[in-house]
Amino acid sequence: MRKAVLCTGNKGKVAELRALLPEKLELIDLDAVGLPADLPETGDTLEANALQKARYAHERCDLPCIADDTGLEVDALNGAPGVFSARYAGAARDPQANMGRLLTELAGKGRTARFRTVIALIDDTGEQTFEGSVSGTITELPRGDGGFGYDPVFVPEGGKLTFAEMDKEAKNAISHRRRAVDKLVAYLSDRVR
Ligand code: IMP
Repeated sequence: MRKAVLCTGNKGKVAELRALLPEKLELIDLDAVGLPADLPETGDTLEANALQKARYAHERCDLPCIADDTGLEVDALNGAPGVFSARYAGAARDPQANMGRLLTELAGKGRTARFRTVIALIDDTGEQTFEGSVSGTITELPRGDGGFGYDPVFVPEGGKLTFAEMDKEAKNAISHRRRAVDKLVAYLSDRVR
């Protein structure tokens, strides 16, 4: 495998995945294969959504396709926002509004949570999924301006800084996405040349 389509329009994810995947794997944007940045994701699990996005692209471009779906799972909210993380505060997918709703819902409740990522890879040999997660806690207020999404309200286990206060290498070393990508990279190791 020399090329793969990265099935996301999220620039934060593209940058993180580019930094984590083997350099010799050429990553192609959805735009470059004539597909919209927002692929359908109507499943009720992260696995279903990652597979749905990768299948949608693979059926239309016939190249290996990689899609990721991530959710923030908060214990006191029974795993919410989970698969609905992007639209937690409405269709606008506004990270500030999403964090605002999360902090309101969590007032007076336990703050343990985890980020979980599922990456799907579809090529001519079939479908694979790879999962990674990182546990942590939700802060009382957003802190930091790095990263994206819910990063300003998430402190990974064993640390004091939010993902948004860490430099990107530090986040990438321990993140949910890193843990899922490590499994993908191990799988690709004898396929990417
Ligand atoms: P999706 O995987 O693009 O559907 O993302 C779901 C939601 O989680 C969106 O609101 C993203 O901004 C957020 N999200 C995904 N990955 C991360 C991350 O690494 N840090 C913080 N938020 C994230």
